[in-house]
This record gives sequence, structure tokens and C-alpha cells, in this order.
Amino acid sequence: MNEAGVLLVTGGGRGIGAATARLAAQRGYAVCANYLSNSRAADALVGDITAAGGRAIAVQGDVCDEADVERMFERTQAELGPVTALVNNAGLTGLISRLDEAETETLRHTIDVNVMGTLLCSRAAVRRMSTRHGGSGGAIVNVSSGAASLGSPGEYVWYAAAKGAVDSFTIGLGRELAGEGIRVNAVAPGMTATEIHAASGDAGRLERIGKAVPLGRPASAEEVAEPILWLLSDAASYITGTILRVAGGR
Ligand code: NAP
Repeated sequence: MNEAGVLLVTGGGRGIGAATARLAAQRGYAVCANYLSNSRAADALVGDITAAGGRAIAVQGDVCDEADVERMFERTQAELGPVTALVNNAGLTGLISRLDEAETETLRHTIDVNVMGTLLCSRAAVRRMSTRHGGSGGAIVNVSSGAASLGSPGEYVWYAAAKGAVDSFTIGLGRELAGEGIRVNAVAPGMTATEIHAASGDAGRLERIGKAVPLGRPASAEEVAEPILWLLSDAASYITGTILRVAGGR
């Protein structure tokens, strides 16, 4: 079964990426779940998808590394077929702090993963999917954040800035590729129940801030995966260069 196409989701082993991979497989995509270091989570995901009759592979690779990105796309094409959909989901915030207390490495790495990773993976996808390059088109969804417009003061302004760059990129690339069969959109999630908050050094953040969200709770990863799959699908055929906020009213 491979009617929907071939999806590569970066950071697909856990959190929003894993929920996206599972839902995509249910909708008939063959799925490549990229991961950085947690092979156990990615392998478990692939096991679940294949046990349910789907096709999936897990491919290790750093989205900041050009050679790794090429290898991800080549392996996906060899094992599942040409990539028709990309979800740029891999991301991190760095440890919570004010800017004047942040390490240079935190700033650099956050920009690298969220921005350079998205640029490198998108470029690899465009070179394969664009009709300009002999491809048959496709769709890209970037995972931005509500932080891009909230600014995240006192927490991680550098992360908010990185996601602001992802938003600008989404608008620009959407227009750049509009005549080449590729739609480019983004979702901007708000507070979502994943391990990213513990990794930022504040595991209680989810519950604390979740209550202040107008809808009264954080999102599940599945509630973010749904709009991602919708933006990838033909149901969103007239939508490109658009950032869809998925933030419970925040
Ligand atoms: P998560 O649970 O912490 O998962 C992050 C994923 O990214 C993991 O699969 C991780 O791989 C992968 N990753 C990290 N660095 C990578 C790299 N250099 N190369 C390849 N993969 C890498 O995070 P999440 O909450 O699901 O976040 C997913 C996306 O949603 C991110 O872009 C994040 O900024 C965005 N977002 C999240 C929230 C939220 O509240 N959760 C809100 C707004 C936006 P391993 O599994 O191998 O470690």
C-alpha cells in the first residue's frame, strides 16, 4: 500500500514527529522517520507501523549535516520510493534562560537545528520533487512554533527567533515553488505534550502554562499531527506559504 506517497519526517522517532509518522502511515503513506540518537524510539515506531501493515523505515541522521541529509533522502528513495512529502519537524529549544545567561553553543545549536536543518532538508526535497528538476511535485510542512510571534521572553528568545525564520522561509519558499508542483506550509503549535519541555530544563512548564491556554490544556502530539497531515493532503490544494496556528487560542 503506497497510495498517498512517501513521507520523510525529521525527528520522527518521538513527540510530534512520531505522531505525524503514525498518522501518515494510517493514511497510506510509506514513512521514513529520521532520528538523531534515540534509535529505540524510532525502531519501536517502525515496528508498530509495519505490524499494522504499513511501510516504514527509521534513518539516523543529523538534519544540520548536509551529507546526512543526502543519505536520508537516498535511503528513503531506495527503500520506499521517491519522496513526495517532507515534514521538517526536528527541533529543540536549548536550556531555558534569559539571553544574557545563555551559552553561545545553545544559541548556535538551536539556530542550526531549527533553521539550517529546515533549509538543508527542504533543499534536498526541492531538488528531487520540483517539476523544474524533473520531479512530480509534492508538499512540505515546516513545524514552526507559536513562540515565533510570542517571542518567549525569559525562556528562549533565540528559539522564538529561529521559528520566526522558519515562518519567513515558509512564506518565501511557498511562493518560489508555487509554479513547480510543491506547496510549502507550516504549523505553529502552542504548548504540546512532548519531552521537549523536560529537555528545556523545566518539566513542570507544560502543566503550569497549559492551564493558562484559552482551551485550558496543552495539545496532544496527535492534535498537531492532524493539521500537518491535512496540509500535506490534496484537501489543502489551494494553500501554500501559509502558517497555521495550532495553539489552543494562545
Ligand atoms: P521532542 O519530543 O523533543 O522530539 C524532538 C525530535 O527531534 C526527536 O525525535 C529528536 O531525535 C529530533 N532531533 C533533535 N535534533 C535533531 C537533529 N539535529 N537531527 C535530527 N533530528 C533531531 O520535540 P517535539 O515537542 O515533538 O518537537 C517537534 C517540533 O515541534 C520541534 O520543531 C519543536 O520546536 C516544535 N514545537 C513543539 C512544541 C511543544 O510544545 N512540544 C511547541 C511548538 C513547536 P531523537 O529522538 O533521536 O532525540
